[in-house]
Amino acid sequence: MKKSFLFFALACMLFSCKKETSTSSDSSSSSGGSSSGSSSSGNTVPDVYTKIFGASSITSDGTFITVKTKGIPSHKSCYWPTSNALYENFANGSTTFNGEIFQKAPTQITDQNYTFKIPLKPALNSAHSATPLGPIGFALDGVALYNQYAAGGASLGNEIKGFDQYYGHPQDMGSYHYHVEPLYITKVKSSKSSLVGFLLDGFPVYGPEENGATVAESALDAYHGHTSATADYPNGTYHYHTTAVSPYINGNGFYGTPGTVSK
Ligand SMILES: [Zn+2]
Ligand SMILES: [Zn+2]
Repeated sequence: MKKSFLFFALACMLFSCKKETSTSSDSSSSSGGSSSGSSSSGNTVPDVYTKIFGASSITSDGTFITVKTKGIPSHKSCYWPTSNALYENFANGSTTFNGEIFQKAPTQITDQNYTFKIPLKPALNSAHSATPLGPIGFALDGVALYNQYAAGGASLGNEIKGFDQYYGHPQDMGSYHYHVEPLYITKVKSSKSSLVGFLLDGFPVYGPEENGATVAESALDAYHGHTSATADYPNGTYHYHTTAVSPYINGNGFYGTPGTVSK
């Protein structure tokens, strides 16, 4: 009896000790209020992640930021069921991304329940692993970002014709996603030069403009990014940009070590 109590007490001490260590290892900014909704384990979520408005939870374990989302847009789309308040007609023949003529696909948006785990401290990995089909990251509205390929590694081609008024579309199983600039964020919620999301390697993605000008492909490396100061990272960070031409968001693999996505 006595022994097991001792063990219990010891375990409690160890646990609280661990808790304190992880709390003090966090170096994020001091504005306390903005990290509401963060983990109760004592790890503060840095302010930049609170810009993810489409998450059901955002937590940190000191190594990874875990972002849970339903993967559905908060904006209107012709791909919602017509019974949904967010359904909006977008007629065939309308103009979508890059002037393509819209042609509605026979798919509908469904909930996904993603858990994205991205490194809290993203770092270059010279292996530059290839991006998978399916989610390669997420936009601030919680919607998945996909790479520049259609199923089987084919070019997007005709898929672009199916992009709705905010340049997203659901795949066959209903997973809504953006392959290109998430227009709802760059046009409605924020601006063309704002943070639009994160890739699985933890590096941020920005819109198509910077310092008042459209970012040229030639200003980006093989992974579709470059390093400079941004509004959210005044000390500089590697970051990706969306552009109007393929590969749109990410180029030839992740710049850093990717985290995970599950559902
Ligand atoms: Zn797609
Ligand atoms: Zn930039």
